Amino acid sequence: MVTEPARVLLGDVEVTRVQEYAGESPATPGFLFPESSPAYWADNAGWLDPDFYDATRGTLRTVLHTWLIRSQGTIILLDTGAGNGKERPYAPVYAHHDTAYLDNLRAAGVSPDHVDIVINTHLHVDHVGWNTSLNGRDWVPTFPNARYLICEPDFLFWDPIRTPRPPGDGNQNVFEDSVQPLQRAGLIDLWAGEHPINSELVLQAEPGHTPGSSVLRLQSGGTGALFVGDILHSPVQIGNPDINSCFCEDPAMARAARRRLLAEAADRSLLVFPGHFGGHSACHVDDSGDGAFIIRDWADLARI
Ligand SMILES: [Zn+2]
Repeated sequence: MVTEPARVLLGDVEVTRVQEYAGESPATPGFLFPESSPAYWADNAGWLDPDFYDATRGTLRTVLHTWLIRSQGTIILLDTGAGNGKERPYAPVYAHHDTAYLDNLRAAGVSPDHVDIVINTHLHVDHVGWNTSLNGRDWVPTFPNARYLICEPDFLFWDPIRTPRPPGDGNQNVFEDSVQPLQRAGLIDLWAGEHPINSELVLQAEPGHTPGSSVLRLQSGGTGALFVGDILHSPVQIGNPDINSCFCEDPAMARAARRRLLAEAADRSLLVFPGHFGGHSACHVDDSGDGAFIIRDWADLARI
């Protein structure tokens, strides 16, 4: 079933949420955010449930989507979800999906052939899946005319030959089926530090969540936005930016990056687009003055 895309205009840039999946998750707050207090989830269940948290089941809500960005005639996809039909022996929640993602993308007016740029904010299992699709026995680029922008430290870190992974790693197979086929097709542009896309968009490395995790900065017509990937995974991290997810590779750097980005978003009134927020999916934040931040308002995007 096709899910209607939701759009917001920021200056001259159109941002569209293309859904891959929204629904139940087996993950509990204690698993994904071990530094968060059970009291927070209980005290805030009134607004966290149902967009972010199922208080009855005591589990988090999972939302996977791509941010489709149209800027100066360029069609950009930021993060590509879990993908269909992937073998994920140690991350079963992302295995063997059969979603209508490509139909949802077409409903947003984009066929795979028309995508110019794919950005992976980092190379975790749930951000690179639709980089490739199965064609017979082979994983092939889903977006054959796109350049795939990957921050080099992540490319090096998640290559299991260069950096062996521990047994039972949830990212098993990900590099092989969702990154290497792009490399073989010559479609990857590695970048480091800062990578301008055009006068409205620039990628910047913000290591911590992963060694090459990155942020896309948007500036157009007096408005601005930050696409932060999983540096910000849940509203609990707005109230307390020191709370990491269990998947943050460098805890101190992840906290510092989160604080820096939230402070900038508050100072400059930037709309923050995280990777997995349910509800209206993006928000403005204010500095509450005690080392914490609060949600000022939500983006004008339909609730999912
Ligand atoms: Zn993620």
